[in-house]
Amino acid sequence: MGEAFRQVLIVDDDPVTLRILERCFQNWGFQVEAFVDSELALKRVAARSLPPLIILDWMMPNANGLEICSAIRSRENASPTYVLMITSKTESEDLIEALDSGAHDFLSKPINIDVLKSKVKVAEQLMRREMEIEIERRYWNLHAEQMEALAEERAKQLVHADRMSSIGVMAAGIAHEVNNPTAFISGNVQTLEKIWSDIAPEIEGAKNITEQKKEFILEETPKMLEGIKNGVKRISKIVLGLKGFVHQTEAERSVHSIGPLVEHALELTRNSLGKKVTVITEIPEELPCVFVDAQKIEQVLVNLMVNAGHALEKSEAPVIRLSATKQEKTISLFVQDNGSGIPDDKLDKIWVPFFTTKEVGKGTGLGLHICRDIIEAHDGQITATNSDDGGALFQVILPSLNQSEAVPQEVE
Ligand code: ADP
Repeated sequence: MGEAFRQVLIVDDDPVTLRILERCFQNWGFQVEAFVDSELALKRVAARSLPPLIILDWMMPNANGLEICSAIRSRENASPTYVLMITSKTESEDLIEALDSGAHDFLSKPINIDVLKSKVKVAEQLMRREMEIEIERRYWNLHAEQMEALAEERAKQLVHADRMSSIGVMAAGIAHEVNNPTAFISGNVQTLEKIWSDIAPEIEGAKNITEQKKEFILEETPKMLEGIKNGVKRISKIVLGLKGFVHQTEAERSVHSIGPLVEHALELTRNSLGKKVTVITEIPEELPCVFVDAQKIEQVLVNLMVNAGHALEKSEAPVIRLSATKQEKTISLFVQDNGSGIPDDKLDKIWVPFFTTKEVGKGTGLGLHICRDIIEAHDGQITATNSDDGGALFQVILPSLNQSEAVPQEVE
């Protein structure tokens, strides 16, 4: 029997009986708290947690055994206690009253120590079982609460993920719809340029237009055509970016230099970073090329930069540093910020799907998981640490190509 069960509280207004009981229990290895004053005992019951075994004399002046028993039973969230009532009453109605007040058993006076001992044994067994049940109950309650919280959290995350995928589908639809009119604007502007090169000399020589009008038309029309062409280029870039993000493009690997990939990713992120963030790029020109799906690698870089931007929202002087170095057979890309950093105990968790510390609507917790998938599909690695100034530092390692294999493609 554990120490916790070997504790007893005895209340008896007869000092001689109390002394005998105290001795007996001490001999049986119990820690004993003894009260001859029932009122003090009543206060004790209300004040602190109780031992698992309580022996109460029934008939006492001031507070009797039944009152103390009722006080014991009325405590909330209390650990289980076994109450043994000592009484000279023998009428069954009286004994029922004792049991009704919450006593487990009674012992008749004069006390037979052997009977007491066997009743205490039964009490110990019962209390031990009750204690085990109580521990299990608390464990399962806690578990149930945790599961409930987890389910609630997961449900929220799924709603997010669902919303994100709906946004993805919508973005893909928009990209597709925008593509068609962009294509015919682009085609028409080329035709217009040709027509213009034919009619510009005629306008120059025309007699029925004032010189002022001629000058305006000849100067402004090429500028307008150029403006339309630039606009179309920008729309195409945005459409391409959207397509990349919603995974509408098949994985297409080709040879690329790192610099343009970083520049393109930066271009896509600029707006979301805002003007306050200073972006420093340190990408040496002589880095070897990589054989990658450019859009996927850009997606990783954009995700890392957007995360850095979020971590820098409260910074006074926010800086993102994009750098790269080469190793024997790999190149490393670094995305570093001087934001809040990632707590050490979260460095492993950030890769787990749906792990996010961002508020509802801002984070899905999928970004880094997807990044890791992409980089690992390229036989690379992505890791996160905190730099000396406390901000996060992400490193992407990709296999590099020999100089002879490398004829880089242009990033669109
Ligand atoms: P999300 O951005 O939707 O939360 P991610 O998988 O991209 O999902 O990121 C997971 C978590 O990693 C973020 O919620 C954030 O706690 C942490 N994290 C990522 N990047 C940074 C960073 N640059 N600085 C601090 N914490 C970061």
